[in-house]
Amino acid sequence: MIDPWASTSVDYDKLINQFGISKFSDIISDIKNPQRLMDRGVIFGHREFNEIIKLMNDNKEFAVVTGMMPSGQMHIGHKMVVDQLIWYQKQGAMLSLPIADMESYAARSMSYEKARDIAVNEYLTNYIALGLDLTKDNVNVYLQSDNEALHNLGFKASKRTNFNELKAIYGFTQSTNMAHMQAPLMQVADILLPQLEEFGGPKKVVVPVGVDQDPHIRLTRDIAHKLSEELGFLSPASTYHRFLTGLSGDKMSSSKPSTAIYLNEDSDVAAKKVKTAKTGGRESLKEQQELGGEVDKCVVYEMFVYHLIDDDSELAKIRQECLDGSLRCGDCKAHAAQLMKEMFDDLADKKDEAREIAKTLV
Ligand code: SF4
Repeated sequence: MIDPWASTSVDYDKLINQFGISKFSDIISDIKNPQRLMDRGVIFGHREFNEIIKLMNDNKEFAVVTGMMPSGQMHIGHKMVVDQLIWYQKQGAMLSLPIADMESYAARSMSYEKARDIAVNEYLTNYIALGLDLTKDNVNVYLQSDNEALHNLGFKASKRTNFNELKAIYGFTQSTNMAHMQAPLMQVADILLPQLEEFGGPKKVVVPVGVDQDPHIRLTRDIAHKLSEELGFLSPASTYHRFLTGLSGDKMSSSKPSTAIYLNEDSDVAAKKVKTAKTGGRESLKEQQELGGEVDKCVVYEMFVYHLIDDDSELAKIRQECLDGSLRCGDCKAHAAQLMKEMFDDLADKKDEAREIAKTLV
């Protein structure tokens, strides 16, 4: 397995120990055809994903839930979740994709209309243009504000927790407004929704998230357990992916244009941004040739791993040539920029048709 982040500042092993998350590397050999991000160590942890593997291998039913909070522009980091959804769809999973307009209203004071508009024109359009088929029968895209079954379930979930538990998880205080407090319970209901009778009854659900989202997963697992007698719910499984590094070397953020490449950016701008990315290059060419590049600190290399190169042997070649000092950062960046441009040109070509489909979904 290629593990390009052995020396990044985030200590994922420590996170695993701290949160009681299991290592993905322990179960990957049981997956028949692992998704690229699994194979490359980007997905590093899980809870009960071994049960999902069993269901996949036996061609049994399971669901995947991932929500979108319409707040701004999608960047290439968001593509990571879409790539996983495409893979799950190929494994026969039911997809449940809530649009968290109630959460946007509570946390960002965004109107439902605006949230719907962003969800359709930004999120769903990109999801489809990136290759996800949202028109299948076993795909459920919905607005939180427009889903009565979700509200009933959220109400039942709220009976199984209390202020102290939510305060411990989310830091709520007595002056936190009630809508903000309800938002996590809507999220719990989103994750549990595919287990309702109208979607075929109790089943295993997996939620692919970044590790910072684990508190939601733990709350949902706790509430699922408490609802198991009444509704027969099973606890949801989860997977955890590594943080995507921004162009400057910090976390990629939607609100900081200098750190992110947005999916609606012109392909030339996207390619130019690649060239601004922090590399693992040495101070001088001579030093680079002698010591090799610091590939595990290189944002350009990370782009190859996450998004730009499918072929493992091609990736291994770049890694090797970087480490042995024969690859120059300038040439390497130009290669990455060209691949990014091609990816964005392809995305742009598919957007209009994708938008027409997206408009019909919610
Ligand atoms: Fe990064 Fe490429 Fe430079 Fe190596 S040669 S540090 S992979 S840009």
